[in-house]
Amino acid sequence: MRYASVVVDIATRALDEPFDYVVPEGLAGACVVGATVLVTFSHRHAVGYVVALADEAPAGVEAGRLLPVEAVLAAPAFDEAGARVALWLAREYACPPADAVRLFLAPGQTVKVTRAGEGAPWELVCESSGPVDERWVALGEAAEGFRPRANASRQRQVIEALEAGPMRLAELAATAGAVSQTVAALERRGVVRVWRARHVRGQGGTSLSSAVAARPRELTRGQRAALAAIDEAREAAAGDVVLVDGVTGSGKTEVYLDAIEHALAAGRGAIVLVPEISLTPQTVGRFRSRFGDEVAVLHSRLSAGERFDQWDLARRGEARVVVGARSALFAPVADLGLIVIDEEHEGSYKQDKSPRYHAREVAARLAAERGCALVLGSATPSLESLRRCEVGSWRGARWRRVEMRERPGGARLPEVRVVDMASQFRGGRRSVFSAPLAEALEGVRDRREKAVLLLNRRGFSNFLMCRDCGCVPECPHCSCALTYHERTHTLECHTCGRSWPQRAYPDPTTRCPNCGSRYMAAYGVGTERVEDELRLLLGDGVEVIRMDADATRRKGAHQELLERFDAAECAVLVGTQMIAKGLDFPEVTLVGVVNADTTLKLPDFRAAERTYDLLEQVAGRAGRGGAAGEVIIQTYWADHPAIQAVARHDRDVFLAYELEDRRDSGYPPFSRAANAVVWGRDARAVAASADELARLVREEVGGEGGWEVLGPTDCVKARVKDRVRRHVVVKAPLDADLGPVLSRCAARLPRRQGIRMALDVDAYDF
Ligand code: ADP
Ligand code: ZN
Ligand code: ZN
Repeated sequence: MRYASVVVDIATRALDEPFDYVVPEGLAGACVVGATVLVTFSHRHAVGYVVALADEAPAGVEAGRLLPVEAVLAAPAFDEAGARVALWLAREYACPPADAVRLFLAPGQTVKVTRAGEGAPWELVCESSGPVDERWVALGEAAEGFRPRANASRQRQVIEALEAGPMRLAELAATAGAVSQTVAALERRGVVRVWRARHVRGQGGTSLSSAVAARPRELTRGQRAALAAIDEAREAAAGDVVLVDGVTGSGKTEVYLDAIEHALAAGRGAIVLVPEISLTPQTVGRFRSRFGDEVAVLHSRLSAGERFDQWDLARRGEARVVVGARSALFAPVADLGLIVIDEEHEGSYKQDKSPRYHAREVAARLAAERGCALVLGSATPSLESLRRCEVGSWRGARWRRVEMRERPGGARLPEVRVVDMASQFRGGRRSVFSAPLAEALEGVRDRREKAVLLLNRRGFSNFLMCRDCGCVPECPHCSCALTYHERTHTLECHTCGRSWPQRAYPDPTTRCPNCGSRYMAAYGVGTERVEDELRLLLGDGVEVIRMDADATRRKGAHQELLERFDAAECAVLVGTQMIAKGLDFPEVTLVGVVNADTTLKLPDFRAAERTYDLLEQVAGRAGRGGAAGEVIIQTYWADHPAIQAVARHDRDVFLAYELEDRRDSGYPPFSRAANAVVWGRDARAVAASADELARLVREEVGGEGGWEVLGPTDCVKARVKDRVRRHVVVKAPLDADLGPVLSRCAARLPRRQGIRMALDVDAYDF
C-alpha cells in the first residue's frame, strides 16, 4: 500500500498540517508528489496537494481508518524539494500550508471541482483556458498541378497567400476573408495541408530592436570576479549566495547573462527575478536577445492564459530561463542551477498578502534544497544581505559579496549638491524650488537638455513640520518621527505607543519645539503643484511630463509617458518613486529631488535605508550619456547620513550610522521583526484582540533573551475603509522560530466576530 500526505485546501479553515490518505492501486501511477488530488475531508469533497508519499502507514495511525485519495485532478506542479520548501514557507511565514503550496501551482488553477453528472469524473474548474491549439495551413502535395476554376477567386487567394509559406488559419482568414470552407475543400483534394500546433500565449510584445546591443568584448575586473564567484557557487551545489554589490551601470545585468549562459552550458536552468516595475520590454529584450526562445516571462500584467502558457514552457522543459516578478520563483524549472534576484533590496520582494513571504528568503531556501546558487544584485544592498556577507554565512549557506565599483568605459558618477531648504525659506521664498534648483532647471531649458524631478511623497502629509527649520517632532524613545493626528490633536509614536498633546495647525499658537517658529504645517506637496510651478518657471518651450499613480493608471500609460520623454527635444519628467527605477536616458543632465527627507520621517526603522536607496537610485539617472550630470537634493536634513552618503558617493557614511542605530535598538539585521495587525469595525473588539495577542506572545517568550514585544498601538494607517487597525511588533533573535511562535499564539486567540488578523513575519512595512 502507498500512503499520501496531502495538504487539504479548504478556504474556511486554516489547517496547519498535511493529512494522510491511502493511495488506491489504480491511482498509484498518477498520484505523485506535486499532483492535485480529490479527497474527502470532514464529509465533503476537497481539493488537496500531495506533498509526500510513503510505503508505510504513518506512525500512530491505523491504516484501515484512512480515507482514500479519490481522483487525481492535475499533473504534478512541483517535486519533493518544492514540497519541502512549501511546508517550510508555511511554518516560517505563519500561513496555512495550502496558501504556500498554491504558489507552486499552474497559473489559473482553482480549487473548485465539477463533473458532468453522477458517476462522471471530477475535474478542476480553471481560470485560464489550459493549453490552446491553433490550426496551421500550408500547401499540400497536390498543390503543384492544381489550377483553380476561373470563378473560384477565394481558392486562388488562399493558394497565393500560402505560396509565401505556412500560415495560421486565423491569419489567413484575416487576409483572405472567410476561408474555412474553402480550406476544407482544398484539404480534401490534398492541395493544402491543415494541422494543429500548440500556441504559446504571451510570447510576443518584445521588439528585439529595443534590446541592448552586442555582448561586450571584455568584462571589467569586477565583472570577472563576480562571474567566477557565481560559477563557483553553482558548482558547489550547496545553496551558496553571491551578492553582486555594484553601482548602477557597473554591468550587473551583463554578469547575470553570462552566469546564466554558463549554467545552461552545464545543463542547468535559471530563474531571474526583477522588480515588477522594471520588467519592461527593454529588460525582457536583453534576456531574449541572448537566450531566444529559451526564455519564459511571468508577471502580473499577463492574462491568465498567457501566464499559464509561459509557466508551461518551463514545465515542459522548453524554456530553461524564466524571467519574472516575485512569483516566478515558483516556476517549474528543471535542474535549476541559478536563481538571480536583481535589485534585491526592493520592498516589493515581500508579498503583502498571505502568504507574506520574502522572495529573497524563499530563494535562499530553494537554492539550498535544489543545490543551486543564489545571486543577489544591487547598487544599494539590503542591510540584511550586507550583514550576512560580513558574517560569511546564514542558515548554513555561504554568503559572499563581490564589489563592482567602476562603470565600464569609465563613465563618471554625477556631481551631487545638497541644498538646505531651511536657508531657502528663511527669505520668505515659498516656492517648491530652491534658488539653485530653479537655476539648474533654467540651464536645462536654455541648453535644450532633459531633467528628471523626483517628488518623494510617501507618507508625507501625516507629519507636522516646521517650515523654517524643517523640524518634525520625534519620539525621544524610538528615533522615528511622530505621526500627527488631526482629530485628537496629538503627536503619536507608532512604534512604542507614547503620545503627546499638540495644538493643531493652523492654530497660530503652535510653535516649533526646535526653533519656536510659528510656521508649523501639516505639509504636503503634490506632483500637480510641482508641474504647475515648473510651467511657470520654464515657460512654454519645455515639455513637462508628469508620471505618478494617477497619470499611469491606464494600461500602457507608463510606457507612453516614457516614450514621450524620450522623443522630446527638451523636457522635464516629474514623478514619484516610480521614476527612480530603470530609466536610462543618456540626455538627462539634471536630476532634482524636491524633498529628500519625506521618507526619513516615516515611523519605520527602515526609513533611513529607504531614503538612501531611493536617492542613490535616482541620482544614478543623471549623466549616463557623455554629458556631465548634476544632482540637486533639496532637504531640511542636509547633514543626515543617508543624504550625506549620496552626496559624497560614500555608502559607509550611511552604513556606519545606520548599523549602530539598528544594533542599539535591536532591529534587523541584528534581529528579526514581525508585525501582527488586527483590524475590524468594532474598535473595542479590535483593542481587546490586540491586547490578548500581545499578552499571549509575552507569555510564550517572556524572559527569553532577545525577544521583545512592542504595543499594541494604532497602525500608521489607523483606519482603513472604516476598519480600525492596531498592531503588535515582535522582535526576536536571528535564530528564533518566529513564525511558529506567532502561529501558536494566534491559534489560542479567542475568536471574535468581524475581527481579522494578519501575521507578517520579517515584515517590510510596519
Ligand atoms: P547594471 O545592471 O549594473 O545597471 P548593465 O549590465 O545594464 O549594468 O550595464 C550598463 C551598460 O554598460 C549597458 O549598456 C551594458 O551593455 C554596458 N556594459 C556592461 N558591461 C560592459 C563591459 N564589460 N564592456 C562594455 N560595456 C559594458
Ligand atoms: Zn516611541
Ligand atoms: Zn523650527
